Amino acid sequence: MAGKGSCYVHPDREATKGCWRCQQLICDECSTVLFGETYCKQCALEVSKITTNQAGSNVFNRQINSRWLIISIIIITIIITAVEIFIMTRGG
Ligand SMILES: [Zn+2]
Ligand SMILES: [Zn+2]
Repeated sequence: MAGKGSCYVHPDREATKGCWRCQQLICDECSTVLFGETYCKQCALEVSKITTNQAGSNVFNRQINSRWLIISIIIITIIITAVEIFIMTRGG
């Protein structure tokens, strides 16, 4: 990898890596490792932004799911109670 070009941020420095996302050549100082892949600083920023947004929406979905879970538990409890009352009134 070394000796094939210079860092696109630092033209005077030799590139040691390539950005996984934009394929630009980068030096050690400009490389950022995210999720096991090497990115330039610009791409690392955007990748972390996207990941943060996805994580945020996942939390939002989880909140909706837990709310629906509580509602369905309440409905099931009401149904079971209604069935029990029905059986009791029939039997008794
Ligand atoms: Zn990049
Ligand atoms: Zn650099």
